[in-house]
Amino acid sequence: MTPPKHGRRAANTSPARPTPELRPGTARNGTASLRPAFSIIAMSFAAAMMVATSVPALAVTATDSEARASVYAPVEDTIDYAPQTVEVGSDGVMSQLAAEQYDVEAAPPPITSQVASVGNVQLIDTNAIVWPVQNPTKRSDGFGPRSAPCSGCSSSHDGVDFNPGNGTPVVSIADGVVVLATENGGGLGVNVEVQHNIGGELITSSYAHMQYGSIAVSVGQQVTAGQQLGLVGTTGQSTGPHLHLEMFGADGVRFDGFAWLSARVG
Ligand SMILES: [Zn+2]
Repeated sequence: MTPPKHGRRAANTSPARPTPELRPGTARNGTASLRPAFSIIAMSFAAAMMVATSVPALAVTATDSEARASVYAPVEDTIDYAPQTVEVGSDGVMSQLAAEQYDVEAAPPPITSQVASVGNVQLIDTNAIVWPVQNPTKRSDGFGPRSAPCSGCSSSHDGVDFNPGNGTPVVSIADGVVVLATENGGGLGVNVEVQHNIGGELITSSYAHMQYGSIAVSVGQQVTAGQQLGLVGTTGQSTGPHLHLEMFGADGVRFDGFAWLSARVG
């Protein structure tokens, strides 16, 4: 059986023939000398594959330096925009405020107010509080014990006296419903009472000594904070034009309306 003269087996059995690229002395056998060359090519290919798989996919298609430069250009842009992380911080603050806004207590239920000749009126909670007159700093008598200003006047002042001037508009201190509107209020003269739901608590405000014919509301009427009720006068047991404001809770006990308003009006 004669060995084939062509093909792989023929080459293997042939005497060594140095390839033109090989320098003398580097290898005695052609097959052996090709192994390092294949290994270098294989390693280079493996290295290229590692680069290709460790860079963005677009980089694989980059066949020249100009294309690669355009591929990597966005990376440099990202570095330039790095200071925008400051805006991320401000966004975090805003989301924190939003979370606080969601963390609110449920509104208290309405309070049922019994209004004579009208029936039950539902009072919704309100936090808008205003002064009953302009220039609330002008006052004469405060709340509490005092020397009676007139014969028959009480020595224990159940309210606060505001002196903004005769004819000054008197307004409701908060949203509510009118429960009393009379020109025959005895010592209180022309008198209006308004009931409010302040934080779930029934509060009544009473406005006294107003001018005859100045009442601008009627019993059962819903009013808003700042809505005019009448005008400052001196009707009833009064020594001069002023607003006598009384405030009390569901128990009817009067408290210091000026201190109460001072703590709530901005
Ligand atoms: Zn008074």
